[in-house]
This record gives sequence, structure tokens and C-alpha cells, in this order.
Amino acid sequence: MGNCHCVDCRKSSASGHMALMAVPEAAISMKGAVSTFELKADSGATVTHNFCPNCGSQMFNKNSGSPGVMVLIASTLDDPEIYKPAVSVYASRALSWDQPDPNTQQFETMPPQGG
Ligand SMILES: [Zn+2]
Repeated sequence: MGNCHCVDCRKSSASGHMALMAVPEAAISMKGAVSTFELKADSGATVTHNFCPNCGSQMFNKNSGSPGVMVLIASTLDDPEIYKPAVSVYASRALSWDQPDPNTQQFETMPPQGG
């Protein structure tokens, strides 16, 4: 769970950051249609934003570089209070009026990938 301050998240949330929860796609069940919009991440991977076609709320993202992972937009959950951010990513791109949460581990861009 973490806050992303990247430009894409700022623009698509119309705010200073987006609250994101990465979960195994297999753990999620959903019904109903979604609308999608694709863009390129810094990594070169394709990020697909998935929206409710009725109200336009962005509900989750998928990244072609992380198959099997779904990134939920925490503020759209039925219970958004389950969201407990542990990290702030793209902290270097945070706006002056929406600084990274000091209670989170901060990364200039993305955390280094394990390996
Ligand atoms: Zn982002």
C-alpha cells in the first residue's frame, strides 16, 4: 500500500497523489463493465487505467510489467479506511502543497525491485 506522487497519478486523481493497493489479481472478483485508458510508465511498461463507465471513477490499474497484479485505487473501496500507506513513491515529484506522508518510507521514484 502506498501513495504515488507521479505526474500520471496526480493528473488522473486530479489531486496531489493517488492511494494505491497492489493485490494479487486472483484474489479479486468483480462484475460489470469497465472502460480503459492506456499510457506508458517510466519503465516503458503499459499501464491500463480502468474506470467505471457510468461515473468515470478510476477503480484499478494494471501494469504490463507486473502480470497477475491489480492496483486498486484505495479511495474507491467500500471501506477506504482499510488503506494504511507504508510507502510514498515518486516523492521527488510531490507538489509543495501535498508532501509525502512522513510516516511512510519514501522513494525518489519507484523502490528498487527485489532480486
Ligand atoms: Zn503514479
